[in-house]
Amino acid sequence: MALSVKPKPLAVCSVCQMPSVRREDLNHRCRSTFQGRRCYGTFKSGVTVLWDRCESCKGHGQVGTQPCAECHGFGWRP
Ligand SMILES: [Zn+2]
Ligand SMILES: [Zn+2]
Repeated sequence: MALSVKPKPLAVCSVCQMPSVRREDLNHRCRSTFQGRRCYGTFKSGVTVLWDRCESCKGHGQVGTQPCAECHGFGWRP
């Protein structure tokens, strides 16, 4: 199966920069946790963000059979 480049995320956390492809995440609290604490950021629209295609996975979101650690499997980085 050929890997395709992922579509750009729709939202991004204002604090930790975690992307999201879920439209319903917009203006909702980020789900990321760091050292047991939940991120206090909220998801903002990713439309105005200049996304860079992840160089590690070339935008495919995975390296081999593993999700890409660089971009959290999204294929793009804010
Ligand atoms: Zn966050
Ligand atoms: Zn990547």
